[in-house]
Amino acid sequence: MKFYSTENKNNVASLKHAVITGMPSDGGLYMPEEIPQMSRKFFDNLRSMDIQEIGIEITKKFLSDDVPIQEIEQIIKSAMNFDTPLEQVTADIYSLETFHGPSLAFKDVGARFMARLMSYLIRDEEENLNIVVATSGDTGSAVANGFYEVPGINVFVLYPSGKISKIQEKQISTLGKNITALEVNGNFDDCQRLVKTALSDQDLRGHINLTTANSINIARLLPQIFYYFRALAQLDGYKDKETIVCVPSGNFGNLTAGLMGKKMGLPVRRFIAATNVNDVVPEYLEKGEYNPRESIETISNAMDVGDPSNFDRILDLYDHDWETIKSDIYGSSYTDEETRATIKSVHKNYNYTCDPHGAVGFTALKDYLEEENGDQGIFLETAHPAKFKQIVENEIEGEVEMPERLAKFIQRDKKSLKIEDKYEEVKEVLLP
Ligand SMILES: *Cc1c(COP(=O)(O)O)cnc(C)c1O
Repeated sequence: MKFYSTENKNNVASLKHAVITGMPSDGGLYMPEEIPQMSRKFFDNLRSMDIQEIGIEITKKFLSDDVPIQEIEQIIKSAMNFDTPLEQVTADIYSLETFHGPSLAFKDVGARFMARLMSYLIRDEEENLNIVVATSGDTGSAVANGFYEVPGINVFVLYPSGKISKIQEKQISTLGKNITALEVNGNFDDCQRLVKTALSDQDLRGHINLTTANSINIARLLPQIFYYFRALAQLDGYKDKETIVCVPSGNFGNLTAGLMGKKMGLPVRRFIAATNVNDVVPEYLEKGEYNPRESIETISNAMDVGDPSNFDRILDLYDHDWETIKSDIYGSSYTDEETRATIKSVHKNYNYTCDPHGAVGFTALKDYLEEENGDQGIFLETAHPAKFKQIVENEIEGEVEMPERLAKFIQRDKKSLKIEDKYEEVKEVLLP
């Protein structure tokens, strides 16, 4: 299958080009040329399929021209070595826990799949591939853990010194081997600028194979489709009911994957795009106007995005038709105060602990089910509450247990290279 640019459908690329370069040079985003349909047989068997079996069937639909079936099976078995369980919270609301990977957020799914696919695609290259990413926390820990010990690839993660959480810093900086953590004396924007400078440095690119691994890579999006099908597989009687799926969103990659799933036959009545006060997309859904702006800081900080990078993919999926977009997606946004109140009430009333992102999803879904139609709903729980221990513990007046795989990072020693906010220092590290 080929991949086209959302800026120009005639600008097409091979799978390898799309995944290794990450984005087309015309400023668009890659989209698969075809959204395949899942077969009748797939749906007949869905209830008994695990996340790996679902992942293999979906991946075959997109990649079987380019990757042998056996390789697809290996990639999925290694990438999806954890499930996305569905937990019932209220009589009609379920939580799809997408955070059971190594960095405790759904981004593990995309990062682990992308790492293994990239490694396969460059298997015949003589030189290693070098990946440089800037992070404000979450992406870096998912990418570092996703690529850890993946053959043929070195990763350099730039993060702002003192501006990411201690746990996130440990998840990025204690791995070693093919993962190098660069602690930059600056802020996130400085890190991002350094990465951009490296990627456009022709002299450097003459010496090493260089790319990035940001969230707009199509290889991160595809595997996120798996868990929407896995959710339905775990839901009794889903065929006879109208199911609503609510996605707490920032850059809207997760929602885009869900919408692609719907085009593949996922039996979902409607999606909810739930945001914090960074509400450009809910506003677009209401008024038909898209006004990107500076982001505002909130407690659900992985969703603090003022100009969501995947918005163009959503427009593309619906041929820019606002009416059909609106009929498939409902938007709503919530303040930090409402998010805190939800963490508290969900714990008190249902004995379930939400993280701040999942809490935005829960509230949006609950309000929707009360006011609009729909029999039952699923919200995506995108991070483990222990990642936001302080905020969550303040509301539930109790302790959030730290999962073993997170606790073990805290005991390990940080091995970052400290650098100034100067491109020459980055270049020196990247050059062999
Ligand atoms: C990245 C992230 C989000 C937002 O996901 P998008 O695909 O960018 O919309 C939500 N919650 C958590 C915990 C995240 O890390």
